[in-house]
Amino acid sequence: MTDIKTVTVLGTGVLGSQIAYATAYAGFDVVAYDIDATALDKARERFDVLVATYEAQVEGATGGKAKDGLARITYSADLAEAVKDADLVIEAVPESLEIKRATWQTVGESAPERAIFATNSSTLLPSEFMEATGRPDRFLALHFANRIWVQNTAEVMGTAKTDPAVYETVVEFARSINMVPIEVKKEQAGYVLNSLLVPLLNAASALWVEGVADVETIDKTWRIATGAPMGPFQIFDVIGMVTPYNIARTSDEPSQQKFAEILKRDFIDQGKLGVASGEGFYSY
Ligand code: NAD
Repeated sequence: MTDIKTVTVLGTGVLGSQIAYATAYAGFDVVAYDIDATALDKARERFDVLVATYEAQVEGATGGKAKDGLARITYSADLAEAVKDADLVIEAVPESLEIKRATWQTVGESAPERAIFATNSSTLLPSEFMEATGRPDRFLALHFANRIWVQNTAEVMGTAKTDPAVYETVVEFARSINMVPIEVKKEQAGYVLNSLLVPLLNAASALWVEGVADVETIDKTWRIATGAPMGPFQIFDVIGMVTPYNIARTSDEPSQQKFAEILKRDFIDQGKLGVASGEGFYSY
């Protein structure tokens, strides 16, 4: 076991709420921080949904265990106060360099010496804002996947300045909250998962918009030939259309520009957002 007992999670949105709850569920004391009372009320609602989700989908979560997790969470809208007793701070605030830097500066000024700092950033590299923490040797990335209770990878990625002992502690912590730690040995945009997944999805969308093969054929090929449970367009339906649209529309590739146009016109504008809305490339 690590010496980590109290964990503060910054931001209680889509991912922050899942991280805070998974940590509390595993037995840690958690402080959930967000900007104001309204955001914290939203967090309480998200946690209630997570309790029900765990009871339905996580083995052993019934009989009061999921609710016990909830009781270990306290709430704060004061950043300095929220981190003052933290052994570990996990940040999941919006993906903006400015917000990340400002947040980490306050944390660095307020957290105890012993604290370890981790960011859940998806696209920004930790080295881009490590100096704002004031202690880059105690800072790294701990990157979760959405739907943490089933998609339970936790990619651990330090910078050149991260203390190896801090890295090891975070790997162990990830394991202790029921994640499978993925050890990324050097900084890499997209970590391991998105470095694999994004090229696959780009290739699939190019094959489709260029008329090489239809959606079902592309998915079927991938499933049968590799044994994977889902093809790329089934994965698009799980991710939802908005993130792929935002990535495709900023690409220089003509096939990606075309894909973005189709996603907007035929899917997003029609309310077809994938599994979440009941229809995407497939119907659910
Ligand atoms: P989100 O918008 O759902 O949540 C962000 C939360 O941060 C909100 O509750 C917001 O109120 C709060 N917040 C805290 N400080 C803030 C400030 N100074 N200004 C504005 N809001 C503030 O975002 P998310 O999808 O949970 O993403 C959070 C982080 O997690 C990002 O770095 C993102 O890249 C990463 N991430 C997201 C996913 C995903 O699938 N959504 C997956 C992995 C990693």
